[in-house]
Amino acid sequence: MTIGIWILGDQLNLEQAALLSCHDNKQETPVILIESCSYIQKRPYHQQKLVLVFSAMRHFAEELRSQGWPVTYKAVQNFEPALNDWITTNKITELRLVMPYDRPFFNSIKSFKLDCSIKFIPNNHFLWSQAEFKQWTDSRKRLLLEDFYREGRKRFNILMEEDQPIGGQWNFDKQNRKPPKKSLNTPTALWFEPDEITQQVIKDIKSYKIETYGNIEPFKWGVSRSQALQILEHFLVNNLNNFGPYQDAMITGEYTMWHSLISPYINLGLLTPLEVIKKIEKAYYEFDYPLNSVEGLIRQILGWREYMYGIYQVMDDNYADKNWFNHQEKLPDFYWDSKQTDMNCLKQILQQIEETGYAHHIQRLMILSNFALIVGVSPQAVNDWFHSAFIDAYDWVMVPNVIGMGQFADGGILASKPYAASANYINKMSDYCKNCVYKQKQRTGEKACPFNFFYWDFLSRHQQKLKDLGRMNLVLANLKKMESEELKEIQNKAQQWKNKNGLS
Ligand code: FAD
Ligand code: SF4
Repeated sequence: MTIGIWILGDQLNLEQAALLSCHDNKQETPVILIESCSYIQKRPYHQQKLVLVFSAMRHFAEELRSQGWPVTYKAVQNFEPALNDWITTNKITELRLVMPYDRPFFNSIKSFKLDCSIKFIPNNHFLWSQAEFKQWTDSRKRLLLEDFYREGRKRFNILMEEDQPIGGQWNFDKQNRKPPKKSLNTPTALWFEPDEITQQVIKDIKSYKIETYGNIEPFKWGVSRSQALQILEHFLVNNLNNFGPYQDAMITGEYTMWHSLISPYINLGLLTPLEVIKKIEKAYYEFDYPLNSVEGLIRQILGWREYMYGIYQVMDDNYADKNWFNHQEKLPDFYWDSKQTDMNCLKQILQQIEETGYAHHIQRLMILSNFALIVGVSPQAVNDWFHSAFIDAYDWVMVPNVIGMGQFADGGILASKPYAASANYINKMSDYCKNCVYKQKQRTGEKACPFNFFYWDFLSRHQQKLKDLGRMNLVLANLKKMESEELKEIQNKAQQWKNKNGLS
């Protein structure tokens, strides 16, 4: 029997389960990595995402070779014929790979006609296995991130003193929502110059005549485990101390603030969640960092990241098609081209994504996703755009974040109420409104901010459904108090905006 291992582009870790399973026989175990040109045409991906994944794969292939694995690297049109060629050449009788994290890809691999048997190995990348997460959900009357997070803290013994949370509290989020009132001295991010391998990938991507999104250069992301570790180290030394307080703040021209920028690397396998969590915890003890910063970040990784993956695993296949509000609008064109909008918050963030493929959590949730939600864009169109635009996007993380959290299309499995907000929130948490042609206080009139008229239009369109949720009563009471003339004007403004932007 000859086992061959296929390594997928988001499983780039020497300790991943398929490699571990053959480690003792590595010299006799052929390994393959494949770049598929047809796969990257499934959607117009951000060019830097393509460069990142292919360059990281090429670097990982080198790393495997240096460790003694016989590696084949192919850049082809389709996976299936390339796999069969390699299977025949190497007389492989069993193709082994770590179970793909993304369901559509798993289904397409299952449909391949291969010249040998195939074995999927359960992944060791996430902290909770599918079975363990399912067991946890089955034991609960309600699904709440906070309950899951506490379970994770206890199970992995993170920031615990005996069986109690350090600092006497599980969650310090209240200290982590400071608006950027004064001018802030933000840290600089660690970026890299493209090496030879990356420069070659950039050339290759430029030579493919495919539809893409965003700028390919300057490309500054790390592409190997060693660079990912440097980024993590840079973050622990320079940013973690102040990560918490301004986590939700947004400032013009500040693309990264105190954020870690590690999602692209954890999602590719270059860093593992547990090593990151352990290093953050160690830094807390070593440097006496504030607990609100340390706990706030650990909650993102041990809590949110694992929770999103778990929910993605336990939900039905049709979770990605959910549309609780029955929103059917198309995505406004300016999401694909920042120059086409004069709304300053959206323009700034879209421009930033075109340049880097990155935006932080609140920019994604409270600006990009919020606007699509209140306009009534189809959740699937929103999901497609996020998947194309972001450097760290994969199906398992997009679907729960966009369909569930951002668009509330699952009717409340992931969030207890929709993340819908008017310009009031944006003005409080950013400096975008100061330089905008629209007036953040106005909901009617020529200069009314579109976030305002769409917010009230959204509430009025869905008031019955929102009332049944029971957590929106305060804003619905304000809606009730609104003069019918004003509501009419708001609805007219929303309709005029849609007409002008090619929506129905
Ligand atoms: P930091 O702010 O430094 O946070 C640290 C880490 O926590 C992140 O690197 C990430 O690994 C983890 N994390 C925090 N929140 C989440 C979450 N909700 N889901 C999963 N992991 C989380 N994250 C992605 O990795 N890929 C995506 O495509 C993605 N799309 C999103 C779309 C929407 C609408 C929303 C609301 C969130 C999305 N997120 C996504 C989650 C989160 O916004 C990003 O993980 C984070 O902004 C990445 O930047 P960072 O590494 O600097 O994060
Ligand atoms: Fe965005 Fe409205 Fe503020 Fe302009 S006024 S930046 S559109 S929230």
